[in-house]
Amino acid sequence: MRILIVEDEPRIAADVKRGLEHAGYVADVVGDGEAAWFQAEVETYDAMVLDLGLPRLDGLSVLRRLRAAEIVLPVLILTARDGWRERVEGIDAGADDYLQKPFRMEELLARLRAILRRSAGHASPVLRAGAVELDTRTRAVSVAGRPMNLTALEYRLLAFLLHRQGQVVAPGDLLDHLYDTGSDREANALEALLTRLRRKLGAPVIETRRGHGYLVPKDGLDVGDADA
Ligand code: CA
Repeated sequence: MRILIVEDEPRIAADVKRGLEHAGYVADVVGDGEAAWFQAEVETYDAMVLDLGLPRLDGLSVLRRLRAAEIVLPVLILTARDGWRERVEGIDAGADDYLQKPFRMEELLARLRAILRRSAGHASPVLRAGAVELDTRTRAVSVAGRPMNLTALEYRLLAFLLHRQGQVVAPGDLLDHLYDTGSDREANALEALLTRLRRKLGAPVIETRRGHGYLVPKDGLDVGDADA
């Protein structure tokens, strides 16, 4: 999962980036509204953390532009303490949730998990496919109840495909969601990563659709869907 952080306060931006990376996401940071709009238009993200008080173009305007352009990216807004007016405006402008400053990283992560799974149509924080189970709260992955040790990149790949369960994901799409702007993205590296992940899981959950991409099929065991 790849997140765009829009925050002009360098210390907060760095803390949030570190927190997200620690939690298994990749994150890019921009410090003003114009850059946020540009980045959201040209790059692919799974969610945006958007401060409202920004230079050049304020956060509400960024949000209104996104929604006017029918960019459905889930957005978590960061608002000032006692800023009830901007929270109301933000939600009306299409924000999926808000967080009041100052906040705990744990709360930001919980709200982000919730908007990500809602946008993917999952009600449960635990994603399942066949014998594979992934808990988005703890990042614990198990196969038939046996805990698995995955690298950060392997986890990100599996989590992304599980969020998109039942959809074929093109390799280019997958690369966009796995790496931040700075990294070079190699299709070969993706193949190697998939091979390692499949070997570790030892369960045939990730299918290759030749010429189209990768798929974790729906198998009726997705508790999230059953609850929805
Ligand atoms: Ca600000």
